[in-house]
Amino acid sequence: MKRSGPAERRKPRRSSLLPAKAAVILERLKRAYPDAKCALDSRDAFELLCATILSAQCTDARVNLVTPAIFARYPTPAALAEADQTDVEEIIRSTGFFRNKAKSLIGMARALVADHAGEVPRTMAQLRVMPGIGRKTANVVLGNAYGINEGVTVDTHVARVSQRLGLTREEDPVKIEQDLMPLFPRDQWTLLSHLFIFHGRRTCVARRPRCAECVLADLCPSAIV
Ligand code: SF4
Repeated sequence: MKRSGPAERRKPRRSSLLPAKAAVILERLKRAYPDAKCALDSRDAFELLCATILSAQCTDARVNLVTPAIFARYPTPAALAEADQTDVEEIIRSTGFFRNKAKSLIGMARALVADHAGEVPRTMAQLRVMPGIGRKTANVVLGNAYGINEGVTVDTHVARVSQRLGLTREEDPVKIEQDLMPLFPRDQWTLLSHLFIFHGRRTCVARRPRCAECVLADLCPSAIV
C-alpha cells in the first residue's frame, strides 16, 4: 500500500490572502524555472494534439520517442484518418492503453477532416466534442499551439503542488482548475501549468518533497523543514 508523506496528509486551508500569495508564487517560480515549457515535441497543433492524446498515463519522454514514427507515417490529419488501427497500435504500443489511444487518434483525425477541413479548431467547445479529447488535452493544445489561455492544464503535478501550497482543497482536476483560474492572470495560465509541472518534477516531488531547497518554503503550509 502506498504510504502518504506529511505533505499528503495535511490539507491546507484556502485563505483570503491567496491572490497576493499567488502573485509571489508565480514570480518566484518564473525566476526558478525560466526554461519552463511544454515537454512534448511537436511542430504544429495537429502534432501536439497527437502527442497529448498519447501522453495519458505515460511520460512525456516516452511519448517523444514514439511520435516521430507517427508523424513520419501519418503527416496529416487526412493520412491518419485513413490509417489502419492495428498499424497505429503497433507504433504506439509502448505508451500504454494503445488500443484506446489508436482509436482516439484515428477518430480525432477523421473529425478534423470531416468537420474542420483538416485544421485543428481553436475553441474549447469544438475540441471537446472530438474523440479522445478532454478539457486537459484541449487546454494543452489551445495554450501551447495557439497561445490561447482558455484554462489551466491540471495534471498530477499541478494538482499536487496546488494542494500542498494551499491553493485548492479539491481533488478533481476540473475543480482544481476552477480554484486556480481566479488567482492568476489569464495571460499566465499556460505558463503557470508549466511552472507547476517543472516544480513538481524537480522539487515538490510526490514522495519526498525537497522543501529545504524550495523557493516557496516560507509560503507553503505543507513545508517540511
Ligand atoms: S515547501 Fe515547496 S517542496 Fe515543500 S511541499 Fe511546499 S511547495 Fe512542495
